[in-house]
Amino acid sequence: PQSAQSQPARSADIDLAAIRHNVATLAAHVAPAKTMVVVKADAYGHGALPVALAAQAAGAHIIGTAHLEEALALREAGLTGELVAWLHTPDAAFAEALAADIQIGVSGWELSRVISAAAAIGHPAQVHLKVDTGLGRNGCPLPDWPALLAEAAAAEAAGHIKVVGIFSHLAMSEELAHHCTPDQLATFEEALGYVREAGLNPTYRHIANTAAAIAWPEAKYDLVRVGLGTYGLSPFADKTPEDLGLIPAMTLRTRVANVKDVPVGTGVSYGWRYHTHDGSRLALIPMGYADGIPRPAVAGPVSIHGTTYNCVGTVAMDQFVLDLSQHPQAQATVNVGDEAILFGPPPAPSATAWADAAGTINYEIVTRISPRTPRRYR
Ligand code: PLP
Repeated sequence: PQSAQSQPARSADIDLAAIRHNVATLAAHVAPAKTMVVVKADAYGHGALPVALAAQAAGAHIIGTAHLEEALALREAGLTGELVAWLHTPDAAFAEALAADIQIGVSGWELSRVISAAAAIGHPAQVHLKVDTGLGRNGCPLPDWPALLAEAAAAEAAGHIKVVGIFSHLAMSEELAHHCTPDQLATFEEALGYVREAGLNPTYRHIANTAAAIAWPEAKYDLVRVGLGTYGLSPFADKTPEDLGLIPAMTLRTRVANVKDVPVGTGVSYGWRYHTHDGSRLALIPMGYADGIPRPAVAGPVSIHGTTYNCVGTVAMDQFVLDLSQHPQAQATVNVGDEAILFGPPPAPSATAWADAAGTINYEIVTRISPRTPRRYR
């Protein structure tokens, strides 16, 4: 264990062994389907390059990002292997992406741009055609799908593209009793029928995210795209990461910045949304919404020497307050400089507990931990 002195004021410690464990666990669960690890948004705040490398070491077949810029940055940092990006705007650098051997997700208008880029650089683009089966974001609507497939088949015959994938994305895969996923899977089957009719023979048919990879066997197809599970977080309200055999990879730690005794009835933080009830001892935690701790969080948990205290009053830009008198016995052990863990693997509080405290989802908690907090890797 590190002494308090050698710890930085705040850090998001990323356990790459946990990432490898999670990817290997998910890959084994879905085999013989293959695994794409999704590292968009700087790997949900965990660091895209280290996560991508760890994921590949653990058996990930493909790495996925939303933006081309994210995929290009990974290539520039030296990442090899299959890499795909799927969310584009008309200024997208398709030629640059193709030169970097990045596969392109195509929902519609991108196809003609990718074909021209491929013709210009003189070798075929690898594309994944996306159909909207009910999420209502990008993806080609089913009525337009046969025309997109016809355009793709002609471009494939002309040697400009190779359709390596057909994909879609689920809207509610964590809701196991809802008809949404079965409906989307039925629509995906219909879309795949058109793919066969168009004479296309993609390597990868893929629709499952983490929740579907875990809970909807019929959604595995040839490839699953796992984001959240890679990071050791659960998409299910009633299942912990432990229940799923996953290990949370990020531990968010800081050190107590101040401890003080205050009188009964003291107003705490902006707006005085909390007043102390007893003569209270307060501890100051030097992280706030500028660090990605949600301002609306109510009673977010922090562990100090194994005891969990809850945030009181409003989270400010750089700091928030714990009322240590929530645990009268333990409070005497808390001193300035002591380690305070906001979330991490058990027995620490979870990112999901912070999400619940703030009325959001665990995805948002880890993704928004800002660059002001250094990432450390082990
Ligand atoms: N596939 C696509 C297209 C996505 O946008 C995402 C993330 O939202 C994922 C897969 C990964 O989803 P999850 O983090 O739920 O596994």
